[in-house]
Amino acid sequence: MQTHYKVLILGGGTGGIAVAARLSRKLAPQSLGIVDPAQTHFYQPLWTLSGAGVISKDHSARPLSKMIPSGVHWVQESVSSIRPLEKRVILKNQTVLTYDYLIVALGLRLAWEKVPGAQEALGKNGVCTIYDYDQVDKTSDFLHQFKGGTAIFTMPPVPIKCAGAPQKIMYLADEIFRKNRVRDKSQIYFATAGQAIFGIPTFAQALNQVAKRKDIQLWFQHQLVRVDAENQQATFAITDPQGNISEKNIRFDLLHVVPPMTAPQVISQSELAEPGGSQKDWLAVDQFTLQHKRFPEVFGLGDVTGIPNSKTGAAIRKQAPVVVSNLLAQMEGRPLSARYDGYSSCPLVTQVGRVILAEFGYDGKLLPSFPVNPAKERWSMWILKRYLLPPMYWWAMMKGRA
Ligand SMILES: Cc1cc2nc3c(=O)[nH]c(=O)nc-3n(C[C@H](O)[C@H](O)[C@H](O)COP(=O)(O)OP(=O)(O)OC[C@H]3O[C@@H](n4cnc5c(N)ncnc54)[C@H](O)[C@@H]3O)c2cc1C
Repeated sequence: MQTHYKVLILGGGTGGIAVAARLSRKLAPQSLGIVDPAQTHFYQPLWTLSGAGVISKDHSARPLSKMIPSGVHWVQESVSSIRPLEKRVILKNQTVLTYDYLIVALGLRLAWEKVPGAQEALGKNGVCTIYDYDQVDKTSDFLHQFKGGTAIFTMPPVPIKCAGAPQKIMYLADEIFRKNRVRDKSQIYFATAGQAIFGIPTFAQALNQVAKRKDIQLWFQHQLVRVDAENQQATFAITDPQGNISEKNIRFDLLHVVPPMTAPQVISQSELAEPGGSQKDWLAVDQFTLQHKRFPEVFGLGDVTGIPNSKTGAAIRKQAPVVVSNLLAQMEGRPLSARYDGYSSCPLVTQVGRVILAEFGYDGKLLPSFPVNPAKERWSMWILKRYLLPPMYWWAMMKGRA
């Protein structure tokens, strides 16, 4: 078994495959390795639509074996520790891999343990989530079978992946309830740990209007801390304007849970992690070059990175060429000239056929791709989200062409 790689890529998700596809055209594919134990690669953005029954979740999954670029070596094992000082990666089966260059694309971890009762409750008594492939169909069932009552959609503290998804599924739920004529018997609440509906004021304003139009009540600084599925009770830690925290139990008939998210332990427990500050425990890369701050032969992209952007696949589309260009420059002793501007995009589905395409970079700078008012709900952006982005993902981004 090959144990040394010129470039070793950790993670075969969106970021790992996007860089592997690009690198395999620049370097000998046999010199590249991807480590990932997963059988399946997922296009997670579809889970929002599948959770509302718009499209089968099968369209979001492909065997990982089919995603690995030709000639690149796939090590189907889990990484158990990374020793950057020795340029070594230790796998779960104790195999030691060595590398000249390392690309970290391990994604993030859903920290279900931070909300006791939530994970065990999934699929029972109206508790559901679109953040887990195995729960997506159940979410759709619960939304379609809802007979009225209290429906709560939660949003944990950021960072999370796709910070828009917790409310997109709520807007689609509202539409389903209306179609099924149970909306007038229902109250919908968006319980967010944050202080605004969305982090970028331009889009927050538009989304506040959407929530108002749909008669959805917004609960700010409400963090879900416990779930009692048996009694259908959710406990929230509520922060008042003076900063005092109190707990409140609320009965629900439907609870869509988005768990808090953390860096993978293999990163937070390694020398690769940011030691302190707002990005503590996440991968310590420079926010512009995506090169590790202390180990110049290490680069990173995607959800695992400790940079002040919004974690999405759209961000990775812009990060992958930067990582590849800067990695090649590093190999050849040239200055690292490629820059990531923090671009991220979130197609905010407000109903079937309507999307606000939020595109922005560092410091909330708007970065629209189209010369139209970006804060408007549009049918054209729905066509983009529903019909154009999935094939673009499989045939362009995952092949290193976009
Ligand atoms: C419900 C939902 C909706 C979303 N909507 C959108 C959207 O509309 N637009 C958008 O752009 N983005 C969206 N996203 C976000 C997007 O899917 C992620 O940001 C993106 O997939 C992150 O890619 P990644 O490579 O960082 O991580 P992932 O794609 O999650 O891949 C991480 C990989 O690392 C592997 N791994 C983990 N631990 C180990 C280990 N110890 N050893 C080896 N391998 C390991 C995993 O098996 C996995 O294959 C959404 C996500 C969700 C969940």
